[in-house]
Parts: sequence; structure tokens; C-alpha cells
Amino acid sequence: MKIIRRPDEMRALCRDFRTAGRTVGLVPTMGALHEGHLSLVQMSRNICDATVMSIFVNPIQFGPAEDYQKYPRPFDSDCEKAEAAGCDAVFAPEQGDMYPPDYASYVEVERITGTLCGASRPGHFRGVATVVLKFFNIVSPQVAIFGQKDAQQVVVIKRMAADLNVPVKIAVAPIVREKSGLAMSSRNIYLTAEERTQSSLIYKGLLAVSKLFDKGERVAQNLKAAIGEVLGAAPLVSPEYIEIVNTLTLQPLDTIHGAALIAIAMRMKTSKTRLIDNIVLGGEL
Ligand code: AMP
Repeated sequence: MKIIRRPDEMRALCRDFRTAGRTVGLVPTMGALHEGHLSLVQMSRNICDATVMSIFVNPIQFGPAEDYQKYPRPFDSDCEKAEAAGCDAVFAPEQGDMYPPDYASYVEVERITGTLCGASRPGHFRGVATVVLKFFNIVSPQVAIFGQKDAQQVVVIKRMAADLNVPVKIAVAPIVREKSGLAMSSRNIYLTAEERTQSSLIYKGLLAVSKLFDKGERVAQNLKAAIGEVLGAAPLVSPEYIEIVNTLTLQPLDTIHGAALIAIAMRMKTSKTRLIDNIVLGGEL
């Protein structure tokens, strides 16, 4: 597996892949790899001939009070995991090569970035859309694989790629969970033992909603109440939002007619860790 730092070297390698007739799949990550990330690699290997994983903690998607400095960066063990999972290359650019001092260009996806996580993380999706478009331009992948875990990110990247005519297919991989049901996340290492136990109720809440939906309940208020009830037993888990939204516009729904995204963000009271989770009912992202 190649480890590449420079964007021009990455571009040259991907050109070689394509010249050899190999399709390229891109898996963008910020590292601190877990089974969730590796499932994206597996999906890429199933649909593409060569897989490139980017590992880059993107400074412009973090707010001033967020965890950019302390975000885990176990680079050597990440490379071992990426290689064992079957990546052909890891692209880990230096911050200064991605954002030189005279850097001035950003991608603004309107409307769908102001809701859900965008409401409490201003500028986050501008940073995400910008770095992902840069990776698309460096790697020129036929397919890019994203996790449903970050559902709003999927919707934003699909919108951006369609709006800006980027010739890439966006594939979405299901959420990988711990045995307890907690969605795997690089930020789970921040949780206290008690928070870890209580945060497993987040998924239990989503399952309660899914069960009600299967029984025919379509009123958003009633579905949301079911999550609130389950989370009542988790005093260390404080909801930032529980929303039921349209899967394309991310606008809130009163009643579900077609597909709906049930999206949750929670703040842990002790460690202040922020966790997100979701399910899609009646369709997919
Ligand atoms: P991150 O390193 O957190 O930026 O995540 C990189 C990619 O991995 C994103 O597309 C995430 O949605 C995806 N991802 C993170 N956690 C999971 C998970 N538990 N299951 C599936 N995909 C995930």
C-alpha cells in the first residue's frame, strides 16, 4: 500500500490506475479508523478495482470551540488498518498543501446545510464540501463511499456533486455499530464508562421509532415522543435535536408519506462529547 502526502503524486497515481483500466474508489476519512471506516473500504473494493483512502483532519470543518486540536491522530496504526483492509493507497496531505497561506476558495451548499447539525455547527458543511471537492479533483474517483452515519453529509455531498457536475457516483454504506447498538465513532473514546452505557439507548430509541413506523404510525410528533421516552432512562444523554425530515430537502415533516430520515444529535453531560445517529424509514438516502 502506498502512503502519499503530495496532491500531485496522488493525482499521478490515480492517473496510472485509470490508464491500467482500473476504476478508483475514494473513501474520505479523518483517521482514528474503526470498523465503520473499514466497511467503507470493503464496499469500495466490491465495486472498484483500486481503493484510495484519504486521512486528513480537515481544519476548516471544525468550529473554534470544537475538538480539532485534540482529535485523535493514530496515523501509523491507521495505515496498518487501511492496508489490512485492502486499500491500495492512503492519501494523507499536509495541511499547508491543502490550504496554503493564500487559500481563498470555498464551496457553499445552500439550504440543506443550515438545518440539523448545520444549525449548531456553522461553517461545518462549507468545510466538508470544500475538502471533499478538493479530494474529488485530486483523485477523480468513479465512486466515493460515505457512511450513512453522517446522513446530512451524504445529502450535502450528493447535492454538491450533482450541482457542480462532478462525474462521481456517491455510494452510501450502512452504519456499523458496537454490540450495544452505539454507532461506532472516532469520538466514542471520549465517553466515560457511564456515558457509554447510557448512549446505547440512542439506538434503542431509533429502533422504537422503527417499530412504531412498521405498525403504521406516520405522525412525526408521535414517533419523536417514542425516542424521548426511551432516552428518559439516560440522564447523561441530553438531546441537541431529534428531527424527522425529508431525505432530500432535510426539511421537517409533520407526517411521513414516502421516505424519512430520523436524525438525532446528543450531547453527553459529563464529557461534553457530541454523538449523532439516524435511521431511514420507508426508503434510503
Ligand atoms: P470520519 O472519519 O468521522 O470523517 O468518517 C469518515 C467516513 O466514515 C464518513 O463517510 C462517515 O460517515 C463514515 N463512518 C463513520 N462512522 C461510521 C460508522 N459507524 N458506520 C459506517 N460509516 C461510518
